[in-house]
Amino acid sequence: MDFEAFFATKLNVLRDEGRYRVFAELERQAGAFPAARRHAHGEIRDVTVWCSNDYLGMGQHPKVIEAMHEALDRYGAGAGGTRNISGTNHYHVLLEQELADLHGKEAALLFTSGYVSNWTSLSTLGAQIPDVVILSDAGNHASMIEGIRHSKAERRIWKHNDVEDLDRQLAEVGPDRPKIVAFESVYSMDGDIAPIADIVEVAEKHGAMTYLDEVHAVGMYGPRGGGIAEREGLMNRITLIEGTLGKAFGVVGGYITGSAAVIDFIRSYGSGFIFTTALPPHIAAGALASIRHLKTSNVERAAHRDRVAKVRQRLDKLGIPVMPNPSHIVPVMVGDAAKCKWISDLLLDEYGVYVQPINYPTVPKKTERLRITPTPLHTDADIDALVHALSSLWSRCALARQVA
Ligand code: PLP
Repeated sequence: MDFEAFFATKLNVLRDEGRYRVFAELERQAGAFPAARRHAHGEIRDVTVWCSNDYLGMGQHPKVIEAMHEALDRYGAGAGGTRNISGTNHYHVLLEQELADLHGKEAALLFTSGYVSNWTSLSTLGAQIPDVVILSDAGNHASMIEGIRHSKAERRIWKHNDVEDLDRQLAEVGPDRPKIVAFESVYSMDGDIAPIADIVEVAEKHGAMTYLDEVHAVGMYGPRGGGIAEREGLMNRITLIEGTLGKAFGVVGGYITGSAAVIDFIRSYGSGFIFTTALPPHIAAGALASIRHLKTSNVERAAHRDRVAKVRQRLDKLGIPVMPNPSHIVPVMVGDAAKCKWISDLLLDEYGVYVQPINYPTVPKKTERLRITPTPLHTDADIDALVHALSSLWSRCALARQVA
């Protein structure tokens, strides 16, 4: 086989469809986020980032940076091993205790990313629980889908956020088989929120265990940043809550929280936990500082809500089509892969506004979009610049506006 020709052909398919991924090479500026410097065409130019998942700007919070510096100076760069073989640092243990407390659970387990936490937890549960059926929301993230697939357990997909369909499918599986209902709270591309209370109700009725991904909600919702389940007083009714340290908490890493038994079980059987080097101690220290801060401070969450409302309001006024949703994610709908990329390129090159285009397979074809994520650190002037740039491009590209 001519491997090189094969790879080139496959890449050309992506280019032809307008969904070949091109990275923006950035230098995020600590102390000045969302400002960044972008390397392109042999130059460095200033840009404003409008698509970061560092939703609250905690990646540059002085407490987080200070904690990381201190841990780095005390403990050095890496963990030095897997958690089992010399890699467990005191900070890992403190962080797991903090996370368990955040979600009102007995225990927590750290992973190297949110992706790995979903993949490992669901693949371990699916592979180990005899005859289990996993019922997965149709909108679930790739990390959950891949973990479930790898487990080789029977998988059923229920219609997105459709509790009646879930109820019907749970009934079809019957009372004799163990069942896991896997879903998310905030869906990251449409920004819609699951009806968690109804899902839990139905799962309990059928004796199913629940697995909730709160990756896009932790730090952001609930009085202590415990997520949507905390906001709705439902944490104690969910078997496993999964989250990330890489988005609103501003660092990197993933975790699950649950009963002491289920956490110990995944710790003891999960290959994606056992056979990999532990997170560096300074990463754990930074995440710990971030979580502790957001447990008591609502300043960031309140400012964030204000910025999101303002961006929506301004875009609505101009008739720029934004998908309505009750969360912090502002999806500006383009509906064409090539146009979406073109607009994104012009925003970056001509206006210094960075919003990455979102294409298939991340979203269905014909729903390509610009996923805008305002943060508490975007100023009124930043919003003015964004809105002005989008409005100009909407006219230039002859894209439809919605009646305001
Ligand atoms: N779960 C969901 C719903 C996500 O959107 C993502 C990443 O975007 C992940 C899990 C993975 O989290 P991480 O980026 O920490 O690997």
